[in-house]
Amino acid sequence: MTVDEALAHLATHGYEASALAGGQSFVPAMNFRLAQPSVLVDLNRIPDLAYIRPGDDGGLLIGAMTRQRAVERSPLVAERAPLLHETMPNIAHPPIRNRGTVGGSLAHADPAAELPAVMLALDARFRLRSSQGERWVPVRDFYVGMFMTAKEPEELLVEIALPPMPPGSGCAFRELSRRHGDYALVGVAALVTLDGGGRCREVRITLLSVGEGPVRAHQAAHLLAGQEPTPEAIRAAADAVATQDIDPDGDVHASAAYRRHLARVLTTDVLTKAFARARGV
Ligand SMILES: Cc1cc2nc3c(=O)[nH]c(=O)nc-3n(C[C@H](O)[C@H](O)[C@H](O)COP(=O)(O)OP(=O)(O)OC[C@H]3O[C@@H](n4cnc5c(N)ncnc54)[C@H](O)[C@@H]3O)c2cc1C
Repeated sequence: MTVDEALAHLATHGYEASALAGGQSFVPAMNFRLAQPSVLVDLNRIPDLAYIRPGDDGGLLIGAMTRQRAVERSPLVAERAPLLHETMPNIAHPPIRNRGTVGGSLAHADPAAELPAVMLALDARFRLRSSQGERWVPVRDFYVGMFMTAKEPEELLVEIALPPMPPGSGCAFRELSRRHGDYALVGVAALVTLDGGGRCREVRITLLSVGEGPVRAHQAAHLLAGQEPTPEAIRAAADAVATQDIDPDGDVHASAAYRRHLARVLTTDVLTKAFARARGV
């Protein structure tokens, strides 16, 4: 099957049809009758959608059907997108990453998933195609609510573009889950860039499992802008993340107060690591 044929099926059947990628979220949803499509469009039959390529700008292009395990093992990803490389082993278990795709995770839009939050930290752009044409959507406009994206039913996510990391940058990811491989109670990603004088030029901190989608911590970034990233400045930023940037719910896995506590601890840790890496320490 080609992408054009898949798009023609989606255009014909509209809301009645669903794309099937790795099936690691969608098949369980069908088992529980949470999803009951009349038509399944199997993207596994489109080999053209699985690739990892260098972008002309020094960044990366990833096809939507690239398996999560391929991203985890790619030397090109390790070199050009170390934040993504560091994050991958935290997603579920190897058998799930062998089948699960990058595009499937991004389109599914689970607020507890790692990849949407990491793409937000990386300032990724998503290429969406329909039978009518294509459009690029920045990740900040893609997530619009819990399990909801800006993607229309007749569109496919076909490619993810990551910009290059600016010089003087460092990054880190950490999450806490009850058992390795479980969905995280909270996860934090950071990408920081220092200027020549060692002050913060840009700070992107994003979190998962603390809202209806991936959350960007704007207040914390504002506090660090133009500052030297001392331990005190990092502590103040982590405090802002926990008290101003997020408004988590409690559930059977963790109370809201515990999620705030985790956000503070994990943010302190990832910022400390990311700034050390930016300095080349
Ligand atoms: C036991 C278990 C534990 C897991 N733990 C984690 C975890 O810790 N972290 C985590 O992030 N995930 C976890 N997952 C989910 C896993 O990462 C899935 O692989 C991922 O969420 C969905 O990817 P998929 O390729 O399997 O997509 P599918 O399940 O095939 O599809 C998911 C949804 O996306 C749509 N879709 C898929 N591809 C496209 C596309 N290219 N364009 C448009 N729409 C598309 C489908 O129509 C469907 O609605 C877990 C899954 C299991 C079963």
